[in-house]
Amino acid sequence: MEIIHNPKELQQRALELRAEGKTIGLVPTMGYFHRGHLSLMDEARKRADVLITSLFVNPTQFGPSEDLENYPYDLDRDAALASEHGVDILFAPKKDDMYHGNHCTWVTVPDLTEILCGKSRPVHFRGVATIVTKLFMLAQPNVAVFGQKDWQQLAVIKRMVRDLDIPVEVVGHPVVREESGLAMSSRNVYLKDEERQQAPMIRKGLLKLRQEVENNISDCDTLKENLRNFYRTEIPLGTIDYIEIVHPDDITPLVKIEGPALCAVAVQIGSARLIDNILV
Ligand code: AMP
Repeated sequence: MEIIHNPKELQQRALELRAEGKTIGLVPTMGYFHRGHLSLMDEARKRADVLITSLFVNPTQFGPSEDLENYPYDLDRDAALASEHGVDILFAPKKDDMYHGNHCTWVTVPDLTEILCGKSRPVHFRGVATIVTKLFMLAQPNVAVFGQKDWQQLAVIKRMVRDLDIPVEVVGHPVVREESGLAMSSRNVYLKDEERQQAPMIRKGLLKLRQEVENNISDCDTLKENLRNFYRTEIPLGTIDYIEIVHPDDITPLVKIEGPALCAVAVQIGSARLIDNILV
């Protein structure tokens, strides 16, 4: 496996590979790999000749009071894991090489980002859409794999690719969980013992909500209120950021469940802001 730090060098390599007729798969990440990231790499590996994974803690998707400074980072550890999972090129640029001092061009996807994480993290999706566009330009992928854990992010990228006619296939991959049901996240390392015991209740509550829908409760206010009460009891160390039920593609809030729906939640537990979702 090769590690490339320089963006222009990556772009040059990618253009050469494409000119040779090779297909490229891309898995964008912020690193500190867990099984969720690795499953995306395994998926992309099957879909392309050359697998590129990017590791970049993108500053523009963090708000001023968020965890950018503390975000876990270990290039050697991640390089070893990436290499075991068939990555051909690990792209690990420096911040100043990705953003020029007078960077001022942004990609925004307003319709899908006014609620859920976009509401709590106002600059987040502008940063995500912009960095993913840059990564697409640099790595020239035919296919890019993203996790369904970040469902809104996946919806934003699919919309952006459609609206801008970016020639890449965007693939969503199911959430990978710990045995307890907790969605894997690089941020789980922030959890203290007692917090870690309560965090799996996020998933338990979502499963309970799905059961309620199967039992014919379709009023979204009732479903959300029941989940809110469950979290208040079962996650006393948590603060609910949001509980929403939305259309899975256009991320608009639903009043009643009459077709496909996504329940998405964000709960702050200690210093970890954890998100999860379920299709119902
Ligand atoms: P991150 O490094 O957290 O920005 O995540 C990089 C990619 O991995 C994103 O597409 C995430 O949606 C995906 N991802 C993160 N955690 C998981 C998980 N538990 N299961 C599946 N995909 C995940």
